[in-house]
Amino acid sequence: TPKYSNILIKINEEAADFYHRVLLSTNAGKRGLDYAHQRGLTEEIIDHFRIGYAPKQNNLLLTYLRGHDYQDQDLIASGLFVQAQSGELFDRFRDRLMFTLTNEGDYAVGFSGRRLSNDKTEAKYMNSPETKVFEKSNVLFHFAEAKKAARTEGHLVLYEGYMDVIAAYQAGVKSGIASMGTSLTEQQVYMLKRITKNIIINYDGDDPGVHAEERATKLFEKAGGFNLGVVVLPEKLDPDEYVKKYGVEKYRDEIKGALTPTDFYLKRLAKKYNLSNDREKLLYLDEAVREIAQLSNPVEQDLYLEKIARQQRVSLDSLKVNLVKYRRQFN
Ligand code: ATP
Ligand code: MN
Ligand code: MN
Ligand code: MN
Repeated sequence: TPKYSNILIKINEEAADFYHRVLLSTNAGKRGLDYAHQRGLTEEIIDHFRIGYAPKQNNLLLTYLRGHDYQDQDLIASGLFVQAQSGELFDRFRDRLMFTLTNEGDYAVGFSGRRLSNDKTEAKYMNSPETKVFEKSNVLFHFAEAKKAARTEGHLVLYEGYMDVIAAYQAGVKSGIASMGTSLTEQQVYMLKRITKNIIINYDGDDPGVHAEERATKLFEKAGGFNLGVVVLPEKLDPDEYVKKYGVEKYRDEIKGALTPTDFYLKRLAKKYNLSNDREKLLYLDEAVREIAQLSNPVEQDLYLEKIARQQRVSLDSLKVNLVKYRRQFN
């Protein structure tokens, strides 16, 4: 039987090996390797993630694949080339560090290329277009490997970026995955559900990251049956930056200290109010109790009610009266 059933996968596999070899063992790849080293990527990491470099020079991949007798119509369908008006083909990725995107069987189906320069006029990341074998809504970076790690770690950890998955891996958290810069989809949630119900969300600590965490939490809750943890890193850091700044042990502590979705919500809510002002404090308590009233587990309800009663120095009994009132409204 052939190693790859599909010609488009075969071409993407060839390209992954090509980019990887260019990075590791050519003069043209030295630029890419310097960048990879500058970002702290070791040889082991470069191998594990099959990281590569798409050279600056025109059409090295095209020349290589044509030389191996691939037909133009298949090359076009692979998503790795752009076609000019004239019909001429060109390499789509140039002068980029290449992250190989694989399917569930860990075969290459597409790429994301990071620009090396700081030139903000160019997109920081560029992805393969959707093809017959690459649908962004059902691909997760590092999924095939993370599935295996989930068996020993007991969870999967969801990140925003490729470099975050890699930094986590270097910190010993090997069950990291990321979507392709697009927000998490329902299909991806169901892919994860088949592996484990324990999901930790660790997006970037900046405002867009925290908003996206809230959105992702809702998506998981809608699907139901998950046990979620949410990590919010300080100083707006992303996981890669955090590991570089504070080291791997501190990072692992952050993962262990993941918040429950309710704690995450209550913390965010508290930030919206000036809690030293009684009027605002009452508004906060009201919203908080409404949220807690939606929890189905009475032990959980008690846990959070007690917590906010303690924090805000109000009586638990009075909060309970309101909770019962709101529960009646929901039912
Ligand atoms: P780096 O550390 O290399 O700067 P990052 O992962 O921290 O990258 P973010 O700006 O936080 O980058 O974006 C998170 C993710 O969103 C990226 O890893 C990438 O998947 C995606 N992304 C970012 N910018 C783009 C873009 N211009 N086009 C497509 N996807 C993008
Ligand atoms: Mn970000
Ligand atoms: Mn980031
Ligand atoms: Mn980053």
